[in-house]
Amino acid sequence: MLCGISYMWTNGLAIMPELPEVETIRRELHSQILRRRLNNVTVLDPRLVQASQPKAFETRLMGALITNVARRGKYLMINVESDVLILHLMMSGRLHLRARTDIRPHTRLLLTLDDDQALHFVDVRRFGRAWITEEAHSHEVVGHLGPEPLDAGFDWRSLAIRLRGRHVAIKTALLDQRTVAGIGNIYADEALFAARIHPETPVNLLSPPKLRALTASIVTVLESGIAHQGTTFSTFETSEGSPGNNQGHLKVFRKTGQPCPSCGKNIRRIVLAQRSTHYCSNCQRKPRTVSTK
Ligand SMILES: [Zn+2]
Repeated sequence: MLCGISYMWTNGLAIMPELPEVETIRRELHSQILRRRLNNVTVLDPRLVQASQPKAFETRLMGALITNVARRGKYLMINVESDVLILHLMMSGRLHLRARTDIRPHTRLLLTLDDDQALHFVDVRRFGRAWITEEAHSHEVVGHLGPEPLDAGFDWRSLAIRLRGRHVAIKTALLDQRTVAGIGNIYADEALFAARIHPETPVNLLSPPKLRALTASIVTVLESGIAHQGTTFSTFETSEGSPGNNQGHLKVFRKTGQPCPSCGKNIRRIVLAQRSTHYCSNCQRKPRTVSTK
């Protein structure tokens, strides 16, 4: 049986996995590779591990037992005894568990397990990265991340602290991983719609009730994404597996010109922080101090 994790394309464009997609992968990996030993490690593309020498990277992981599969924001964190292997899939990285010898094009890393199956890191566009560290929480790629939005301690005050003194648009602030870890373009648009906040609203104009609503919406849209196994990723048990189905549950993301599910007015698209942004101009009113283009 082949086990694997894949992704789908939306409107022909690859979408970066966000928290729900990475969490979907984490859960599958946790059930598949926990307590397995890494019998062999082969770096096929040095660019993937550019912070390390490939040989040193391989040697450090070889023989280690996988003791946990965790996540921080959009990063997978695979604990291997005293070290942590940090993986970021970026635009096109995928992880497939299959026979070690079944190496397909664009495979960058092979983590061979104790039964001759291997976790294959496949990445067509080569933006994916892997790091190894003893100190995961202070590592340069995850040490600066904002709070985990699905942790019990995440509330509107933790969001307010991260936004204090800033004047950028709330959509821009949400895409900044220092604000909240794991939110990207899809879930930022969906959370702002659910909280009825215009994406261009300067963060200093958000009242505590608005921040409360936004905090609750962030949690709701992320949990919904996980419940539907992600918007762009799917977990499947055969090579014919079906994709994740959260795209059928989105309200505004990439719905330009379609009726708002709340009021019926057409969803609009603007570009904010160089990213497509989708919203309802009726449900998400622009504050008066924000100039109209
Ligand atoms: Zn509306």
